[in-house]
Amino acid sequence: MNYRHAYHAGNFADVLKHTALVSLLLHLRKKDKPFAVIDTHAGRGLYDRTGKEAEKTGEAEQGIARVKDSADNPQPLKIYLEIANSFSANMYPGSPLFVAKLLRRADRLVAIEKHPEEFAALADALKPFANARAVEGDGYQRLRSLLPPPERRGLVLIDPPYERTDEFSEAARALIAAHRRFATGIYLLWYPLKNAPAIGAAIGEILTAGIRKVLRVEMDVGAAGERLSASGLIVVNPSFGFEEEMRAACNILLPQLSQGAGAHADVTWLAEDN
Ligand code: SAM
Repeated sequence: MNYRHAYHAGNFADVLKHTALVSLLLHLRKKDKPFAVIDTHAGRGLYDRTGKEAEKTGEAEQGIARVKDSADNPQPLKIYLEIANSFSANMYPGSPLFVAKLLRRADRLVAIEKHPEEFAALADALKPFANARAVEGDGYQRLRSLLPPPERRGLVLIDPPYERTDEFSEAARALIAAHRRFATGIYLLWYPLKNAPAIGAAIGEILTAGIRKVLRVEMDVGAAGERLSASGLIVVNPSFGFEEEMRAACNILLPQLSQGAGAHADVTWLAEDN
């Protein structure tokens, strides 16, 4: 467990992932009924953009720092920016804080983190939010016992570090097992676009398991060299309107986040409801 998200917080992949997360949460908020969010790999919650890890990679400078506030931004991008900029100077919020900020009184968040130091920081970051709970442990194992949520409405974010080559498959299997327990839930699975065969196989497992309503959102910023250039999201049961919002967000974000030739984004249904 060497991965530390502090090196990557606020990069182009976080911008896309957190905009998608905000969009789905805004849709969940449209109904009065409470919802639950489970973040299986929550990270530390808040990241210092001027810390030594962030300065070493400069990834936030090519990510959140380039995203412009504009009247033309679609609503999820507007709210994403509002939340991203609502913390003290230079701090970038991770997924649990985007969620915590959008919870209503009866909604709740369970944020799971395995690394003890990251967990301690997460517990601290979530202290001001009464209905957000930080849990120390393995996100895949804990997920099973948390589903289905009593609210019967909600979202599961699966955002592993992909340190191991079999993590694509582990994440896909966790999603499939979770979907068996909570078929109407929304699932958001993040992945780096580094190992196309492993991604293809993981997506194949999800589709073969019979899961329908699967949307894929991918963005490649055309980065050169060793840097991560592309990432994607598998979204199961996306809310109505999410697809169009992500197309609009990608159209606005791509030119701002582009690092070179070949930058492109794509929103595609992998399986649709019949
Ligand atoms: N979701 C966060 C966000 O968007 O701000 C970023 C999470 S980061 C990509 C992955 C996190 O998962 C790391 O903090 C790592 O310590 C943690 N982690 C690794 N293996 C885990 C496991 N099996 N269960 C829970 N957390 C784990």
